[in-house]
Amino acid sequence: MTPGIRTYHEVDELRSDLPDQIAAQEECVRARLASVGRVIGVMSGKGGVGKSLISALLATALVRRGDRVGLIDADLNGPSAARLLGVEPGSLVEGPAGLEPPVSPAGVRLMSMALLLEPDRALDWREPVDAGFVWRGAQERGALREFLSDVAWGRLDVLLVDLPPGTQRLAQLHGLVPDLAGAVAITIPSAASRDSVARSLDLARARGLRLLGVVENMSGVHCDACGALSPLHAGGAGEDLARRFETPLLARIPFDRRLGAAADTGRLDAWWAEAGPAAVTLAEVADVLRAIPAGENT
Ligand code: ADP
Repeated sequence: MTPGIRTYHEVDELRSDLPDQIAAQEECVRARLASVGRVIGVMSGKGGVGKSLISALLATALVRRGDRVGLIDADLNGPSAARLLGVEPGSLVEGPAGLEPPVSPAGVRLMSMALLLEPDRALDWREPVDAGFVWRGAQERGALREFLSDVAWGRLDVLLVDLPPGTQRLAQLHGLVPDLAGAVAITIPSAASRDSVARSLDLARARGLRLLGVVENMSGVHCDACGALSPLHAGGAGEDLARRFETPLLARIPFDRRLGAAADTGRLDAWWAEAGPAAVTLAEVADVLRAIPAGENT
């Protein structure tokens, strides 16, 4: 355990002076994000759709365009951004202004639970037996708040937040960052993924959150021999969601074996160097994110 870092059992979110405590915490988040241009949430409805991979690729694409970029891996139970970006566990140190986010070889500043846990250890929640659900929600919100406010992000053009699946996650982030620049939704083509993303987007829309667009991942697979694209999943979730929520379909990314291998070994740079069509598309998505007006923070 890095000295000076509290464990998440010690986050006392549920004390009796809760309103004052929350106001003070929100002020800490606001102060820390004063030097951050825009905060963008990346969300999905279900796990395994490639949200973390697309988040890491977008973060890298933004750095390649010259931006200073931070990435919060808010998936506490299955963090994967450190591996994707080739950041070693244990590389988190405490500096005078807070926790210093390690910088990936590609230049992305990262905060992830994986940096706090020993390798192969699961996050162990100590929760009251009969109030586990409420307790865990508070703990997760507390951890996300600490990732926003206790990390010395410095000046950033963009801070991407890779949110765990679930309808409440985007709302939780919005609660902590009221001038959130918006959210990008990741789906695979299937109806199951479409429906679970739609539930989260309904909630986001009800909160007045800006939807920046949809990325459809695993949209088919190219034939090794002839290059033709054939479907991998039935359905057209990307187009369906874009139409229903009147938001752009930003990209359709095929399943790409070389991308999967590069992701597993933390060598996304090798994939970028090939500059295939999906890399070009993701760089264009990064340009869309760069064109979003900065929040009121700046
Ligand atoms: P999520 O964050 O939605 O749970 P991940 O980003 O962890 O999903 O992706 C799940 C797995 O699928 C990972 O091993 C990832 O490398 C792989 N993967 C995701 N998208 C693609 C793709 N377009 N081509 C190849 N592999 C992919």
